[in-house]
Amino acid sequence: MYDYLIVGAGLFGAVFAYEAKKRGKKCLVIDKRNHIGGNVYTEEIEGIQVHKYGAHIFHTNSKAIWDYVNRFAEFNRYTNSPIANYKGEIYNLPFNMNTFNKLWGVVTPDEAKRKIDEQRKAAGITEPRNLEEQAISLVGTDIYEKLIKGYTEKQWGRSAKELPSFIIKRLPVRFTYDNNYFNDTYQGIPIGGYQAIIQKMLEGADVRLNADFFHDRGEFEPLAKKIVYTGMIDQYFEYAYGVLEYRSLRFETAVLNDTANYQGNAVVNYTDRETPYTRIIEHKHFEFGTQDKTVITHEYPTEWKPGDEPYYPINDDKNNEIYKKYKALADAEANVIFGGRLATYKYYDMHQIIGAALAAVDKEFGERG
Ligand code: FAD
Repeated sequence: MYDYLIVGAGLFGAVFAYEAKKRGKKCLVIDKRNHIGGNVYTEEIEGIQVHKYGAHIFHTNSKAIWDYVNRFAEFNRYTNSPIANYKGEIYNLPFNMNTFNKLWGVVTPDEAKRKIDEQRKAAGITEPRNLEEQAISLVGTDIYEKLIKGYTEKQWGRSAKELPSFIIKRLPVRFTYDNNYFNDTYQGIPIGGYQAIIQKMLEGADVRLNADFFHDRGEFEPLAKKIVYTGMIDQYFEYAYGVLEYRSLRFETAVLNDTANYQGNAVVNYTDRETPYTRIIEHKHFEFGTQDKTVITHEYPTEWKPGDEPYYPINDDKNNEIYKKYKALADAEANVIFGGRLATYKYYDMHQIIGAALAAVDKEFGERG
């Protein structure tokens, strides 16, 4: 008999398994995929760590979380500084003095602020009612038109006028010449890939891959005293209140045998509406690779239907209401801990998932030793 059956070998499940094992508990971890790691999974191709489910950059402001994750891997000094390609024009992200200089030729922060203020005033928006108005009221019309509109509409498959304003409440805008995307104190990519971290976390746990909880629910449930469930919450409750919706992604990865350096940056965002993909990732730049080949991935946003890979929850009022009902059922479910992005129907960065998993550990076992 196991103490815990952990459904999902992603970051949440792996942190929980590690902490439970430390306390002498026996864990069985199952995943329906053919690998551990969930969405942080990296696979080595041509000596390059390929981020199979999209670019993953670790960043946090919490020293405790940074120290925690550094127990499992050494991190390099990678700083996320994506660039935008708008119809062949290149701009720095996040929006900063380099972006403003390229757009308008302005040099000082005051000049940039004046330009943005002029455009905000001309638009006359006092209370933004949708994403388009919110974006214009934050950064003015030029940045919105060239760098936000097309990208966001592709990402969500809807017009920016139909999208809620809260999606971009936290657009980073800075009046310094600083292309570092994140404001966090700690940032980097694990040397050896995220895979090495997850492997270490799961050492000593029994792991079964290609094992879907719902295919053998009757067999899996009696195997453990408790379940840690990190799959989709609506599926757990057999869609009793309906289906929670997501946006999905399609990744197309290619090895370029004759190219050492394809785009000169790990992440390039394509911000026009016509280019069907939102980003191209060149993986070797995450780790300053010097191989004579390169591996690139085109990222295409796609509609989601049940059965597709769920990536981004659609946290609009309709879906949030449905989630609340499932949450009430989850709270009443004895001996099951619901955690991770799918069971809580929320987008989380990796550091937040680690924080949430450690909080679940604290709740389960009392304070961490
Ligand atoms: P998951 O990784 O999804 O793990 C859940 C696991 O459960 C999966 O392996 C799944 O196969 C398994 N599972 C589900 N249902 C079942 C079932 N019925 N039976 C068995 N197994 C099941 N975060 C950052 O900090 N920085 C970034 O740069 C970043 N970039 C991202 C880019 C993209 C495109 C995406 C989608 C996410 C990004 N994230 C990033 C977020 C990061 O991926 C998540 O924080 C993290 O993967 C969540 O871990 P999790 O364990 O909750 O979920």
